[in-house]
Amino acid sequence: MTFDAELKMQFLFSLRSKGVTDTKVLTAMEKIDRALFVRGYFSDRAYEDMPLPIACGQTISQPSVVGLMTQALQISPRDKVLEVGTGSGYQAAILSLLARRVYTVDRHRRLVRAARQIFDDLGLVNITAFAADGSFGLPDQAPFDRILVTAAAEDPPGPLLAQLKIGGIMVVPVGQSDTVQSLIRVTRHETGFDYDELRPVRFVPLVEGLGKDT
Ligand code: SAH
Repeated sequence: MTFDAELKMQFLFSLRSKGVTDTKVLTAMEKIDRALFVRGYFSDRAYEDMPLPIACGQTISQPSVVGLMTQALQISPRDKVLEVGTGSGYQAAILSLLARRVYTVDRHRRLVRAARQIFDDLGLVNITAFAADGSFGLPDQAPFDRILVTAAAEDPPGPLLAQLKIGGIMVVPVGQSDTVQSLIRVTRHETGFDYDELRPVRFVPLVEGLGKDT
């Protein structure tokens, strides 16, 4: 299946109907073909609004959730963004069209390698992907204007809060349970942090340490 004009129209319509209304976000999502990030058996379902399985037992997020998280970050073209949970690389590719620089990390090397290949193929030169435990952030590149965590944590990880610039925004799914979490937007001020609860979501958990794959 190719991401042709009609499919794009349906895809964008479904995003808008789920509350993704920011024109810049919609334009970025129109440019990045999700099928490139969903290989194999499920690739013909790439334009449906559902999460799909990828390698290493992980999932590529639902497009409307990708759109809503990106919208909540209010990215400006000068921003340096950290994504924790590269997964397929789809979310990072969208961020890269909106931000100056994107750093993305995943605990599975195999996912990082596959995502890097797609970034190269698409000429997305402002993304750097690393294999790392993202709960510690990326101290060498900190601080960040925006941080997006695409795996669920019990609490917003302390090192990530510390690596957020003043005026910066972090979006993170937070919750005790594996079945449903709450998407939280954290805004850093001079004197502390503000927390907004955005909506219920379902993400794979943030897991400590690097994966065993090579
Ligand atoms: N943003 C991805 C979907 C992420 S799925 C996309 O667009 O496709 C969540 C990812 O978080 C998984 O790939 C998982 O390996 C990763 N992950 C879980 N715990 C992590 C940690 N501590 N550090 C880095 N990545 C982690």
